[in-house]
Amino acid sequence: DLTAELHQRDFEQLVICRDPEVGLESVIAVHDTTLGPSLGGVRMRRYPSRAAAVADAMDLAQAMTYKAALAGVPLGGGKSVINADSRVANRDEVLIAHAKYVAALNGRYIPALDMGTSVRDLELIGRHVPVVCAQRGDPSYFTARGVVRSIEVALEACGRSVAGSRVAIQGLGNVGLHVARMLCAAEVEVLAADIDPVRVHDAVDELGVTATDLADILFADADVLAPCAAGGVIDEHAVPRLRASALVGAANNMLTTPALARDLRERGIVHVPDFVANAGGLIAVEAELRDDESGLADRVDAIADTARDMVNRSERNGVDVVSAALSMATEIIEGNRKYRPWF
Ligand code: NAD
Repeated sequence: DLTAELHQRDFEQLVICRDPEVGLESVIAVHDTTLGPSLGGVRMRRYPSRAAAVADAMDLAQAMTYKAALAGVPLGGGKSVINADSRVANRDEVLIAHAKYVAALNGRYIPALDMGTSVRDLELIGRHVPVVCAQRGDPSYFTARGVVRSIEVALEACGRSVAGSRVAIQGLGNVGLHVARMLCAAEVEVLAADIDPVRVHDAVDELGVTATDLADILFADADVLAPCAAGGVIDEHAVPRLRASALVGAANNMLTTPALARDLRERGIVHVPDFVANAGGLIAVEAELRDDESGLADRVDAIADTARDMVNRSERNGVDVVSAALSMATEIIEGNRKYRPWF
């Protein structure tokens, strides 16, 4: 029952869109706009069911609310998903039909890039909606910078210095390679794996990282494990096998369920949730949207303060770090509820 779920999960708005003429089926989820208009990617993929598309949009929109609140960005959380293969023949027509539904929200939802959509698609959507985030720059450097700040906080919590520590990185893509570069520059020993052997080879050449088997990287003997590839890589079977003292990375939803944060805590593994560590990209995207990138690096570096507060709060209150993060985000949102600065 969708109405019950909307209430239960405290969602503001859910729009189910259809345009049978072009074959559009899409969902726009606006979770919370207390801090600002909701921003979130337009994801295009074929879902196994309509219910799965709605669930994905809602989960992702909710995560955006918390990510923005904790990153100090004046935005709310939203997301939209188009339930279609991203190679569908009449792709432009489908995108335009979706954009018209987005336009009806009058700027309450700002579409951005996501899986299955490109800058060109966002430019196309932008011709039909009041605000779009068709980012020109690649935010992955800033995402990586926030991840590295979070890794430093985790090492500090483990009583380790940065230089001489060992970090295992899964995935040397846009974010992972930047993370490897920054860590190598700080005299960290980097172990790395990627399904693309060329990326590993290049990183060994450029940075002197130690290539590690794909099957071993998650369970490497390292101070920090940094998943920077796909989400869902840490499940209930992986947690007991982890050998790292800390888990901090860029991969969205790296835990198959947030409840695993409790298991990590029980094992004494320091964890900075992905939606805190990888918020540098969102901070950069929002700065680009406002056309004001002054102080951007400092604002990304401040992720370290949030991560430290969160790890301390989890210690102090005897709760796992994801619960600590969610209660911090809720306090920020509730503190602004009456004031609603952007209305
Ligand atoms: P990317 O596609 O550029 O890089 C991912 C890399 O992981 C690729 O090199 C790929 O070959 C590798 N890979 C895939 N599966 C693997 C596996 N099983 N084992 C080892 N390597 C594997 O993506 P990205 O932009 O670097 O993003 C990485 C992660 O960070 C994603 O989960 C993304 O959602 C998240 N994230 C990225 C940003 C950003 O600014 N790019 C912001 C927030 C979150």
